[in-house]
Amino acid sequence: MQGNKTFTMIKPDGVANNYIGAILDKIIAAGFNIKAMKYTRLSRQEAETFYAIHSERPFFGELVEYMSSGPIVAAILEKENAVEDFRTLIGATDPAKAAEGTIRKMYAESISANAVHGSDSDENAAIEGAFFFSGREIF
Ligand code: UDP
Ligand code: MG
Repeated sequence: MQGNKTFTMIKPDGVANNYIGAILDKIIAAGFNIKAMKYTRLSRQEAETFYAIHSERPFFGELVEYMSSGPIVAAILEKENAVEDFRTLIGATDPAKAAEGTIRKMYAESISANAVHGSDSDENAAIEGAFFFSGREIF
C-alpha cells in the first residue's frame, strides 16, 4: 500500500531566486497539505548525512557543497499516493528533460540546482522527514 506522506525541500536556488511562494502555490494547488515546514540551512556535515545514499556518485561533493550553500525550506507533505504524485509534480531531475508545467521545468536552474527535492519512496520519506522534524512539529 502506498503511503500518504512525502518530504520535500525547496533547494538553495529556489530560495535564492525567490520562488518559495510560487513553488508552495503549486504544491498546494496540486492537493498536498503541509504537515510541517521549516526555513533553515544545512551545514556541510548535515548535507553529507542527508545525501549519504549518493556518497559513491561522482556528483556527491558538488551536491553537498551546493545543498549547504544557502537557506532551504524543508517540509512534510500529505496527500494520497504522496511520494509518486509529488515526483510527478516536480518532474525529471534534469530540468531540460522535465515535462512542461512541472516545478523543475518552471523553476530549476540546472541538473544540480534543480529547485526542489522529493523523496523517492515511503521509507525514505519517513527517514528524510525525521531528519528535520520530530514530535510536536507534525500537525
Ligand atoms: N544531481 C547532480 N548531478 C547529477 C544527478 C543528480 O547534481 O548528475 C543532484 C541533483 O540535485 C539531484 C540530487 O543530486 O536532485 C539527487 O539525485 P537523484 O538522482 O536522487 O535525483 P532526484 O531524486 O532529486 O530527482
Ligand atoms: Mg533522489
